[in-house]
Amino acid sequence: MRTGRLAGIHRTSPLFTGMRDHGRLAGRCGGCEFAPVCGGSRSRAFTLAGDPYAEDPWCSYQPGNFPYPADLAAMGLRPAA
Ligand code: SF4
Repeated sequence: MRTGRLAGIHRTSPLFTGMRDHGRLAGRCGGCEFAPVCGGSRSRAFTLAGDPYAEDPWCSYQPGNFPYPADLAAMGLRPAA
């Protein structure tokens, strides 16, 4: 039974708001300098790890290896922690 509008669910549900909060990501995605603009696939994380906040298992990038720090800064991103 439907109880709410899809747009409202997307805007307010803890799951959907959580998936837009890159500070909740774990694994490589959680420590990645690109998390604010990428965030990885939440569907792949959930499918393979059972956790929608786990790292994207198909991404091969290792956080901290981007060799152009000035470009990161220009994009408003911080180096990996
Ligand atoms: S580890 Fe890969 S998928 Fe995750 S945020 Fe970084 S670039 Fe994106």
